[in-house]
Amino acid sequence: MTSAKARAALKKYFGYADFRPLQLSIIEHVYDGQDGIVLMPTGGGKSMCFQIPAVTMTGTAVVVSPLISLMKDQVDGLNAVGIRAAYLNSSQRGTESHGVEQAYENGELHLLYVSPEKLLSPGFFTFLRRRRVCLFAIDEAHCISAWGHDFRPEYTQLRQLKTAFPKVPVLALTATADRLTRRDMAAQLGIPDAQQFIASFNRPNLSLEVRPGQKRREQIVRFIRERPNQAGIVYCLSRKQTEQLAEKLREAGYNAEAYHAGLSADRRAEVQGDFINDKTLIVCATIAFGMGIDKSNVRWVIHYTMPKNLENYYQEIGRAGRDGAKADTLLFYSYNDYTTLKDMISGGGNTEIQLAKLERMKEYAESLACRRRILLNYFSEDHGDNCGNCDVCANPPERFDGTVLAQKALSAVARLQQSVGIGMAIDVLRGSSRQDIRKQGYDQVKTYGAGRDLSTYDWNQYFNQLISLGYLYVAHEDYNKLRLAPAARRVLFENEKVELVKFQTIRDRKKQEDANTAKRASAPRSRGSLFEALREVRRGLAREAAIPPYLIFSDKTLEEMAAAAPANPRALARVNGVGEVKLARFGDHFLQAIRDFAGDDAAPAASAAQTGDRKARRARDRERHGDTPSHLVTYAAHQQGSDVREIARERGIKTATVFAHLVQACREGNDLAIADLLPGATIDWIDEARRAAPADAGRKDLLAYIAEHHQEGVVTYYHLDLVDAYRSLHPLSNAS
Ligand code: ADP
Ligand code: ZN
Repeated sequence: MTSAKARAALKKYFGYADFRPLQLSIIEHVYDGQDGIVLMPTGGGKSMCFQIPAVTMTGTAVVVSPLISLMKDQVDGLNAVGIRAAYLNSSQRGTESHGVEQAYENGELHLLYVSPEKLLSPGFFTFLRRRRVCLFAIDEAHCISAWGHDFRPEYTQLRQLKTAFPKVPVLALTATADRLTRRDMAAQLGIPDAQQFIASFNRPNLSLEVRPGQKRREQIVRFIRERPNQAGIVYCLSRKQTEQLAEKLREAGYNAEAYHAGLSADRRAEVQGDFINDKTLIVCATIAFGMGIDKSNVRWVIHYTMPKNLENYYQEIGRAGRDGAKADTLLFYSYNDYTTLKDMISGGGNTEIQLAKLERMKEYAESLACRRRILLNYFSEDHGDNCGNCDVCANPPERFDGTVLAQKALSAVARLQQSVGIGMAIDVLRGSSRQDIRKQGYDQVKTYGAGRDLSTYDWNQYFNQLISLGYLYVAHEDYNKLRLAPAARRVLFENEKVELVKFQTIRDRKKQEDANTAKRASAPRSRGSLFEALREVRRGLAREAAIPPYLIFSDKTLEEMAAAAPANPRALARVNGVGEVKLARFGDHFLQAIRDFAGDDAAPAASAAQTGDRKARRARDRERHGDTPSHLVTYAAHQQGSDVREIARERGIKTATVFAHLVQACREGNDLAIADLLPGATIDWIDEARRAAPADAGRKDLLAYIAEHHQEGVVTYYHLDLVDAYRSLHPLSNAS
């Protein structure tokens, strides 16, 4: 088995040109009959590691998966690309499973998905032995380890596999397993020496942002408004929160549902199903949501409140952007949320480790350095550079001398006898006329009103910084009252300098968001929105085929398709994610949509053409392409599958110019799909004429030769130049 074969299958079935890092090594490892452990982040492309062996090796790959809803999704996705897959689990009726068993026995299946219960049921190994199993893939393999966080007792029986089928390679895959868990996994599966493949956990397409947890609902509504038609998840801490938020979002006109463990199983399945099928765009959920779905076009994830640790956070944001297209994540953070979580944890077991993890989560939320670096560091990866796709990288913090500010804050805390929380301290500083302030006589303290110049929001930020810097701490055991730490003395009495970071005010942030919105509006996705037209086609096809839209084509594929706007099947096949079966099955629908779209777009130009005004099209063309060299604009259009005449019409230039452009581009080293430009016969005639004619023959002689031996008037000077340029990149071998 060769890597060429694997690559061919990747292109044929999935329409992808290249493997991602590690995929090919893992596949070759399986070809060698070896066992392996695969650790890749969600969306990293684990499935490909067993799906490619399944379609290239003799026999059936048996995939053990604990999540029944995922099984169906994966099988539907595979069938859609022409791979023969089926599943067996306890939810099926007898007739259905009988058909699957029959298909396996007839050797018709590339892949057979089974639940662990089914796999371990009496007689199942005997059944499997009737045909050849080429691979066992154990998905969500961390479930086998009591060290992991999703321990499933039935998984521990999987060790029987290696004993019963010693020659069949076992591939254990997971997105979450620390070193101990991985070692335990290998031991439990009876493959202690299996090679471990550990992919980077970096997901560069996910943007990371943390905002202070104020006016969350308003902020969420604004966030959603900027992302029309995009699916997303808001993670909340409580059931009540999910209900309330979903309600509010519906009031604001969005299509949102709540999801939590308190709903009936039917209702949960319904919400999940509608989300998967793009019927419900927004789900407000407790952490229970997302486990059993593979939806690749989740475009954003918001955390209404902070998760307990970075593992959870990472897994939850990881549900966005699995298709590799850009996706946004937003975490709301407030000190209060932190103390709430702390109280929750303190009530449970295993407290110390959990509290330590919570601290790391808090550090992340409060960080003034690149967030991705912190996240990756936590997972023991060091990438060195700042990422450029997090809020800190986008707005590097500005530092300033905050000594006076700190003095005011600390002195207020001191004068209030260290007996108030942040809220009251700020109100006193801002000189609030709250009733209880007067009643307590706080309006008499010296710092009353000393901080009027700053908003509550700003003071909140600065208090949080003073806490992080260790000048203040919060007495959780005493109603979260602020206390002075020993270091505060140095500021109050020894004039110690305090450097603070200038936070953005809400107004700054709004301005920036507006700028982002403007940027987004001009981004390719919404430009003229061919993308939206393609999405519409996808939705219709999905409904017809009764599968989720993202299984027709991913968002990423549609984005590429919209950018390339292919004009024919050959060009469409070049788009990543368009494999053979999907091309045949869906290609025409998408090509038609692209033609329709171009038709609408070109309508004004067409009338201009009728009045003989090529100038108008030229002007539009120039406007569109700015200062990209003209021959390269033509070349790009050619790459996207337009033919010479189309390009000439679209750009308002002569066909001769199009040829000249292509010749120039080719001379500069850009390859040409020459067969798209000239009929094969013409190229053969030109090659033949060159070989037959004497070395000093001119273009006229060549044309004469072709006229005499083949046909007159078909081949022109332009064609000769083009083939000449092409042959400078692809010389004819002398032998022929
Ligand atoms: P995981 O199981 O690790 O969460 P998947 O196997 O579902 O990830 O893959 C996530 C997405 O990445 C899918 O849309 C899949 O088609 C895509 N993908 C996988 N491998 C490649 C590849 N080599 N090139 C392009 N896309 C890929
Ligand atoms: Zn960054």
